[in-house]
Amino acid sequence: MVSYKELGLVNTREMFAKAVKGGYAIPAFNFNTMEQMQAIVQASVETKSPVIMQVSKGARKYANPTILRYMAQGAVEYAKELGCEKPEIVLHLDHGDSFETCKSCIDSGFSSVMIDGSSLPYEENIAVTKKVVEYAHRYDVTVEAELGVLAGVEDEVEAEESHYTKPEEVIDFSTRTGCDSLAISIGTSHGAYKFKPEQCTRDPETGLLIPPPLAFDVLEAVEQKLPGFPIVLHGSSSVPQEYVKIINTHGGKLPDAVGIPEEQLRKAAKSAVCKINIDSDSRLAMTAAIRLHFAEHPEHFDPRQYLTPARDEMKKLYMHKIVNVLGSDGKLG
Ligand SMILES: [Zn+2]
Repeated sequence: MVSYKELGLVNTREMFAKAVKGGYAIPAFNFNTMEQMQAIVQASVETKSPVIMQVSKGARKYANPTILRYMAQGAVEYAKELGCEKPEIVLHLDHGDSFETCKSCIDSGFSSVMIDGSSLPYEENIAVTKKVVEYAHRYDVTVEAELGVLAGVEDEVEAEESHYTKPEEVIDFSTRTGCDSLAISIGTSHGAYKFKPEQCTRDPETGLLIPPPLAFDVLEAVEQKLPGFPIVLHGSSSVPQEYVKIINTHGGKLPDAVGIPEEQLRKAAKSAVCKINIDSDSRLAMTAAIRLHFAEHPEHFDPRQYLTPARDEMKKLYMHKIVNVLGSDGKLG
């Protein structure tokens, strides 16, 4: 048993309370490579932002659970080396699929876990969430739960259709489970293809898809039921069209990739939404930078040559999200 406290990590409790009060959101960036980890730490140190580094089941499979845990520990030390005296870094399990997965993360140094029982019947979701909360709270680890179903694909999490969170359920669910934060479904979606073209309108000039707006009425109804309770948005990449264009003009094929417009996320960040998950945008930044690099330097084969601009581009993206979308810059300490 390794406590996250020994690793210099923090849980989300105080971080979320401040974010809800202050009208901003904490970035939750997924990572599974060293370059992503470095870019996340550099961006959060330079902007003085708290940050959640999150790992999905697929990431654990890709990188190895032990390595990822040591990378998070390394992230704390790296932040200090970069001049941040008291880093606020959370190591979070994204989409925990069972009590056992959550327990193994808690036992190996995670400071926060998500138990995703959203695909289960309501009472079963409550039962598994409650079991995780009881175990996690023994070690002061915070727990995110989910009500409502998001569409899209994220690693092994896949749903054909979304179902908005039912505001009438949130009081009962949060009280009976004791969860610390709640992921809700208001129209965000996993992946780089968040909406089918038939769900969107098309800009007549650019030909780009314009996605349907988020269901802010559902968010407002949830906030009225649970004033001040930390709300989480998954699937909140914006799928920057400049990256899609670079990828598509340099050998890639991502037709009609579309995300959540940043002005809608900016609006959400000012509400009780205190954690916004961003994964696809960093994948797109990395891929665009690498494709561009190879187009300009076909003779390169040293990974450092193309991973350096990839890392720089991800850092730029993370800083942009922190400063211009979430508003978590300058909130350390
Ligand atoms: Zn998710």
